[in-house]
Amino acid sequence: SMTAPIYKRILLKLSGEALMGEDKYGINHAVMGRIVAEIEEVSKLGIEIAIVVGGGNIFRGMKSANDGLERVTADYMGMLATVMNALALQDAMKLVGLVPRIQSALRIEQVVEPYVRGRAIRYLKDGKIVIFAAGTGNPFFTTDTAAALRGMEMNVDIMLKATKVDGIYTSDPKIDLEATRFHKLTFDEAIAKNLQVMDATALTLCRDQKLPLSVFSIFKAGALKRIITGEDEGTLVTV
Ligand code: UDP
Repeated sequence: SMTAPIYKRILLKLSGEALMGEDKYGINHAVMGRIVAEIEEVSKLGIEIAIVVGGGNIFRGMKSANDGLERVTADYMGMLATVMNALALQDAMKLVGLVPRIQSALRIEQVVEPYVRGRAIRYLKDGKIVIFAAGTGNPFFTTDTAAALRGMEMNVDIMLKATKVDGIYTSDPKIDLEATRFHKLTFDEAIAKNLQVMDATALTLCRDQKLPLSVFSIFKAGALKRIITGEDEGTLVTV
């Protein structure tokens, strides 16, 4: 039996690392295909989907800032990395008949259109999938913060952070076999327990604007859809 979706519009945060699969860097095309299939399933339910894509699989500012680069330079390089991922994601979506539109927080207009809020909302209403690239457009921020920001701007019902692990755990489940998954948490608990879910800026934004957050695994088949239909999956963080 089909369960009805409980959300109408969502913001999906895909980290760059999700796109590299077991590779050491870059984009793994098989993995990209699997992720797109999960998105397609939800799109077919009529859910409006906005995506913020990270860049850590190609370039991460904070790590590279030591190698003779200014932090700001490294951050701009990181933001450009997210544009590359967005382009790859866009093509992978087109292959299966989805209609993606990239909007970038940095202007590179021959490649992708700039972020225009009203136009992005129009696209969502038309059933197009909007991919937000270049993070917030500002150094010293993260794509998690960009996801919270765009989620709020798009008036989404929930932000979904796709990770490799299927939720937030008491400790790292890959190291600690006793680790257990939180089904639900408040933002204050997540911040106080320092659970490494997202950076504090992103968590605080979600909390202050009462934007619910779900942390789930994009590699668990059907998990994205189960969250959309309100089943117990991942970890739900609310105020
Ligand atoms: N970045 C930035 N401002 C933003 C978003 C991202 O400067 O608003 C830079 C930052 O250097 C970051 C890199 O882009 O390390 C890639 O983004 P992120 O690390 O968030 O990607 P993810 O971890 O999701 O792959």
